[in-house]
Amino acid sequence: MKRNRKAKILATLGPASSSEEIIDKLFVAGCDVFRLNFSHGSIEDHRNNYKYIRSLEKKYDHATCILADLQGPKLRIGTFAQDKIELKKGQSFVLDLDSSPGNKDRVNFPHEEIYETMTPNSEILIDDGRIKLQIIKQEKKSLTTEVLNSGIISNNKGVNIPGVVLPISSLTQKDKSDLNKALEMGVDWVALSFIQSAEDIKNLKKLVGNKASIMAKIEKPSAVKNIDSIIEASDGLMIARGDLGVEMPAEQIPVIQKNIISRCRDFGKPVVVATQMLESMVSNHTPTRAEASDVANAIYDGTDAVMLSAESAIGLFPEESVTIMNRIIKSVETDSNNFNLEIKNQENSSMNKKISTTDAITSAAYTIAKNAEAKAIVTFSVSGITTMRMSRERAPVLIIGLSPILETARKLQISWGVYSIHAKQDAQNATEMVSIACKALKNKRLAEAGNSIVITAGVPFGSAGSTNLLRIAEIIDDKDLT
Ligand code: PGA
Ligand code: MN
Repeated sequence: MKRNRKAKILATLGPASSSEEIIDKLFVAGCDVFRLNFSHGSIEDHRNNYKYIRSLEKKYDHATCILADLQGPKLRIGTFAQDKIELKKGQSFVLDLDSSPGNKDRVNFPHEEIYETMTPNSEILIDDGRIKLQIIKQEKKSLTTEVLNSGIISNNKGVNIPGVVLPISSLTQKDKSDLNKALEMGVDWVALSFIQSAEDIKNLKKLVGNKASIMAKIEKPSAVKNIDSIIEASDGLMIARGDLGVEMPAEQIPVIQKNIISRCRDFGKPVVVATQMLESMVSNHTPTRAEASDVANAIYDGTDAVMLSAESAIGLFPEESVTIMNRIIKSVETDSNNFNLEIKNQENSSMNKKISTTDAITSAAYTIAKNAEAKAIVTFSVSGITTMRMSRERAPVLIIGLSPILETARKLQISWGVYSIHAKQDAQNATEMVSIACKALKNKRLAEAGNSIVITAGVPFGSAGSTNLLRIAEIIDDKDLT
């Protein structure tokens, strides 16, 4: 299904969207990637949604991308005897390892490994930063704090500790078990929360192998600090502004967003901007002006994709949220005055001084497509790497990613501007290559006889990582196709 836009839409599934009917509506409205959020819901829920998405894939004959998002080491307090308590500014409050229900003076905080790394004056944030505590005394099994602002806290609220690199693996026992289930299902991407360094990604990669691509969620200051090595180790990134905005001052988030997007483009890795994009649509059927501007600005920044969280998972208007996002993206992309993401100077923006053959080909493909007024650029790609490099060019031309591997076709749907198609037949030679490309375009009604297209591929055919061929072809009538 052609979307007539370049940037992509991710939608998180949840109670508001866990049926075949609604998932179908989200897809038709414009959702390119479905997120299964393993922080919530049962494995059964995720498995059912997985099946619905795959049956849609058949129904629409459209390779569809699924992202499994692992919870990571989200810290939480325990419960209270009365379910919640009120804290007063200036009072002292203790976090400890005692698992009995808490009261207004103390609560369980069952993360022993963290106690020793805390120092007096460190800040602890509870419930998305609503309550701030400052450590006054640190002991092996308890942390005595002063409450910095009044408020209510309730059972199992999340805890953020921004300033400290925590001595914990970003992959918990729950994550390992969820990961196995997700890989068994056959998800295309696995995202990991609260990573702190490239090591966290490398450890996940050891478990995932080549079964899925890996997305690093940037939501801790330490991840921002280590951004280059994390991008290098990952297949893609998510700017997880929800937790990032708790761990860092709000005014830094837009700056970090812009910088990470441009860094990801340098590396040619897809990047997703996430959280609170259309937040008020959880309960309203239209977004605020500020939200519309937020989505628009992410598109102007050059992000590959924007994401819906609560809006599509628990909101009242999941389908409308996708529809609005779709409209905002299209509106920006047709702004001929300001919307231009082309790489100005290949040498300045390229990571390596020496440009790879693939980069040289993708860059030339775009120049030729412009000069020849080609209808599309078709990238034959087994691994998807060439298609991603083509996406990096941000060419205002239709990019068709043709892959003989279904899994590659699926994962590429997240990349900016790529219309990814599973080629049921692989090309053995240049003639077949032209014929397969033309057939695919005509089948999907993306081009017609007389249009010219630019094709890239690798010789020898069928092997990964060898793009070295560029060809201009004219779409011809069926009878002439071999
Ligand atoms: P989450 O991640 O929705 O899993 O918390 C996104 C974010 O923190 O922004
Ligand atoms: Mn998060």
